Amino acid sequence: MPTRLLDGAAVDTLLPMDRCIDLMEQTLTSLSRGEAVQPLRTILRVPGKGAFGVMPAIVGTTATAIGVKVLTVFPGNHGTGLDSHQGVILVFEPERGSLAGIIDASRVTAIRTAAVSGLATRFLAREHAGDLCILGSGVQARSHLEAVLAVRPVRRVRLWSPTPAHALAFAAWAESRCPCPVEVCAEPEMSVRGAEIICAVTAARDPVVVDGWVEPGTHINAVGASLPESRELSSALVARARLFVDRVESARKEAGDFLVPLAEGVVRENHIVGEIGAVALGQVPGRRSAEEITIFKSLGLAVEDVAVGEYLVREAERRGIGTLVDLGGRRDGTA
Ligand code: NDP
Repeated sequence: MPTRLLDGAAVDTLLPMDRCIDLMEQTLTSLSRGEAVQPLRTILRVPGKGAFGVMPAIVGTTATAIGVKVLTVFPGNHGTGLDSHQGVILVFEPERGSLAGIIDASRVTAIRTAAVSGLATRFLAREHAGDLCILGSGVQARSHLEAVLAVRPVRRVRLWSPTPAHALAFAAWAESRCPCPVEVCAEPEMSVRGAEIICAVTAARDPVVVDGWVEPGTHINAVGASLPESRELSSALVARARLFVDRVESARKEAGDFLVPLAEGVVRENHIVGEIGAVALGQVPGRRSAEEITIFKSLGLAVEDVAVGEYLVREAERRGIGTLVDLGGRRDGTA
């Protein structure tokens, strides 16, 4: 069976944000129903550079999607023209186990991560929340703007990023997408105060959002930190909020935004309210009042990549997109 190669441009064509949000709802509800096989990801530290990660999953009770994402995360790439997340998603067809697709992981990671935050925002932010704060100006900052625009009536955007030139470049791009003003703030506090939705999409290791700045009723997507010792939110803020996650098992092992306050004794193990998939299923109540602060802690899951990969290969085949290569796989080794 030939294998379909899909580059970043093909991913962008085949995966509009609103479609990806629906796909992530399907995938994460399925995960919360126990219909996926997904071990914790394997992360190898690359000294002085970043990390190398392997993320396998089987999605669906009848293995509708089988695959793995393999990638490097080199934060120093930001500003060089190269993505800080590079790699591939390998997708296998479930009938004979043949390799059906090899897909650019940079674009899938950009879109699926923001789509999951869009899903969380749809369920957890106040219905008319439109004052948006974005912390960070990289790949995820851009895709998160698109995700929030897809689910809420955004009427104001404030952003902050440590390198002013990067913040200004992001703002110029954002203005072409937004039906509203986009302001660059010199300090994170100025962008956070009064915001109704906050997307923290930085490579920070220490908090960029602290409790005293955040108004009652705010929803926060905390996306940037994905190691046990890194976090974007202060302990007091996490303690004051209702905390939702993409996967409980992963958050208990990998989420510094939960593990640091836990180690400090500021929150207890049961501070995690539940998974966003369980909220979508109606098993766990989402927002209960206009005043409570909600946090969605995203780590990023293999099921998201594999479900997107399977969808892309199917859709690309239907629309005749991508390049076919024959990598073998026959018993006698002939092409
Ligand atoms: P980029 O490399 O494109 O951008 C990184 C951003 O982080 C830049 O805006 C940079 O600011 C900012 N930054 C770097 N260091 C600091 C710091 N010490 N304090 C505050 N901000 C800082 O990365 P992405 O946009 O692709 O990813 C953003 C974060 O999200 C990363 O940490 C990444 O690992 C994580 N991520 C999480 C996923 C998930 O599923 N949860 C999936 C993909 C990414 P500036 O340019 O102004 O210096």
